[in-house]
Parts: sequence; C-alpha cells; structure tokens
Amino acid sequence: MPKVFVTRQIPEPGLDLLRQFAEVKVWPEELPPPRETLLREVKDCDALVSLLTDRIDGELLDQASKLKVVANYAVGYDNMDISAATQRGVLLTNTPGVLTDTTADLAFTLILAAGRRIVEANRYVMAGKWKTWGPTLLLGQDIHGATLGLVGLGRIGSAVARRAQGFNMKVLYYSVPRNEEMEKELGVEYVSFDELLSQSDFISIHVPLTPDTRHLFNAEAFSKMKPTAVLVNTARGPIVDEAALYNALKSGQIAAAGLDVMDPEPPKADNPLLKLDNVTIVPHIASASIATRTRMATMAAENVVAALKGQIPPNILNKEAWDKRRK
Ligand code: NAP
Repeated sequence: MPKVFVTRQIPEPGLDLLRQFAEVKVWPEELPPPRETLLREVKDCDALVSLLTDRIDGELLDQASKLKVVANYAVGYDNMDISAATQRGVLLTNTPGVLTDTTADLAFTLILAAGRRIVEANRYVMAGKWKTWGPTLLLGQDIHGATLGLVGLGRIGSAVARRAQGFNMKVLYYSVPRNEEMEKELGVEYVSFDELLSQSDFISIHVPLTPDTRHLFNAEAFSKMKPTAVLVNTARGPIVDEAALYNALKSGQIAAAGLDVMDPEPPKADNPLLKLDNVTIVPHIASASIATRTRMATMAAENVVAALKGQIPPNILNKEAWDKRRK
C-alpha cells in the first residue's frame, strides 16, 4: 500500500479518504514537524500533505525517491519551490476556490473591526474604563460609502468587492493583469497602484506572495496613503514591510491596520506592532471555518488519491511535472 505523510492533524474526512487508498501517518503535534523529522518522514513516502509552514524545496525532494505528489493544504503555495519539484517530476497541488468566501468574510471582518476600532473598544470595556456615553469616545472610520482599494482582483479580491457592494462602497482595484470583464461585472474601477494608495480609505491585499509583491507595502507606499486609511492584509505577511507599517501606524501616517498574516508567524514577542492600539491582529485564521477547513482536507486528499491512481490531480500547479512523468 502507498504511504502518505500528513504534516498536521487535518479534519478527519480528508484523512478518511486517504486511508481508503494508503497507509497514512499524521504528525500529531500542534507545532509543525521539525525539519529533520520531515526530511526523515518523506524518505519512504509516495505522497505528502503539507501545510504553509512546511518548506518544500530541492533538499526535501532529494530525500524522497518515491514521492509522486505534494498536496498543499492551502491556496497559497509560496512555501513550495515549483521549479525544484518540476525538475524532479513531483506533482504539486493546492486548494483553490474552496476558501475564497471564507477568506473574503475575514477580510471584511478586519475592514469593519479595524475601521470601527472594535478590538480596542472591547479591551476598553473589559478594563473597566467605560464610564459614560462619550461624544468623542473611540471614533473610527465609516465603512459605508468609503472607497475600498483592492490589491489583487482574483478569486478572493473579487469576493471582497461583492461584499463591499452591500456597504455602498466605491471599489478601486490594482491587479496584474487588468480584468475588464470583472470591472463590468462588479462595477469596480482599475487604477494604478499609486492612485489606489492615494485615493483609498480602506486597502485590502489579495495578491500572492512573489518576488514582485514582497514588501509592496513599504515606507514609500505608506507615505502615499491617507492619514485616515486602514490597511488590511489577509494574503501573506511579507507583502507588507512590518517595520515601515509600524512607523506609519505610530506616526499617524495611516489610521489603522487589520492583519491576519505576519512576517514571521507567529510574531516575535518583542514585535512593536503588538503594542499598538490601532492594529487588530488575528492568527492566520482567514480560512478557519469548520466547513471550509473540512473541504480543504478532502480537496488535498482528492489530489493525493488522483496522483496515487496515476491520474492528473484536479488542482495541479506544475502540469510540466505531469508531462514529464508521462514520458
Ligand atoms: P488568485 O485568484 O490567484 O488572485 C490573485 C490575483 O492577484 C490574480 O488576479 C493575480 O493575477 C494577481 N496578481 C498576481 N501577482 C500580482 C502582482 N504582482 N500585482 C498585482 N496583481 C497580481 O488567488 P486567491 O485565491 O484570490 O488568493 C490570493 C492570495 O491570498 C493567495 O495567494 C494566498 O497567499 C492568500 N490567502 C491567504 C489566506 C489566509 O488564510 N490568510 C487564505 C487564502 C488565500 P494572475 O492570476 O494573472 O497571476
């Protein structure tokens, strides 16, 4: 029977599906397997189910002579070296689409929470500071009627645009390439990155982490934003230069931020962002609904099962590796 190593306890329906076709070993701890453990475990594996905390690179693939497929339990795959896998004929897959709406819900939650200072207000009440109704107490930014700038208008960006319609927001976007069909469908307006920075009241990031997007939000970008602007990041931490974000939030160059992702994760205990009242941080939970995480598990399992059966996995990222295996 083929062997599958799963690097964390994913929801049972995914594991049940894998067990019908393979001998399945699951890393049982809360923290990811240490690198040496992962390198040892892949040695006799036919398939690996990985998380975004596992680095899938040439060193790992060279340990794994039987490995056919690595199924990432995420839509983002910046933890995987695609060309290293393709060179070695190892198939890589992700879980696109199933987490779009759940992630968009969380992005909108952060827009609302950071804009209206919800977490700060909750801390205020819990600390016993609520004495009376205050005319200037905890004033925030209006969401309805504001201008929302979306960086990246793919699956999740466009799902956030749909939510913004309900709040009567004007939606601008910057995405490469421009998507004129989506502009018509969603009533969103394409602008340059600089225009988006200077015109938006809220900015929500939905691009993948690539060499082009690393530190896209740096000191220069923050200097172009409104002092009332709110930045929300549910994409990947390194897209934002955190030192520059801290300076922008501390100096009042921008008003607030809502972060689901950080660089690194978890943040170090002395990360100064953790001390600011105008930043709302949650621990990378954008796709964390019961239904979505379960669907991600079965989707990752379906990709593994297809590869083990010699079929092309439905969510293959490197079709070249498939072509190579077929030769
Ligand atoms: P997607 O459908 O591929 O959307 C990304 C969009 O950004 C695409 O339209 C893409 O264009 C565009 N783009 C790529 N590089 C760009 C650049 N340098 N400048 C401007 N636009 C660029 O992906 P998605 O499903 O919406 O997911 C987006 C990202 O969210 C993922 O990559 C992942 O890292 C992150 N995510 C995070 C969580 C979480 O738990 N926090 C959950 C889900 C996803 P092309 O299609 O032409 O490349």
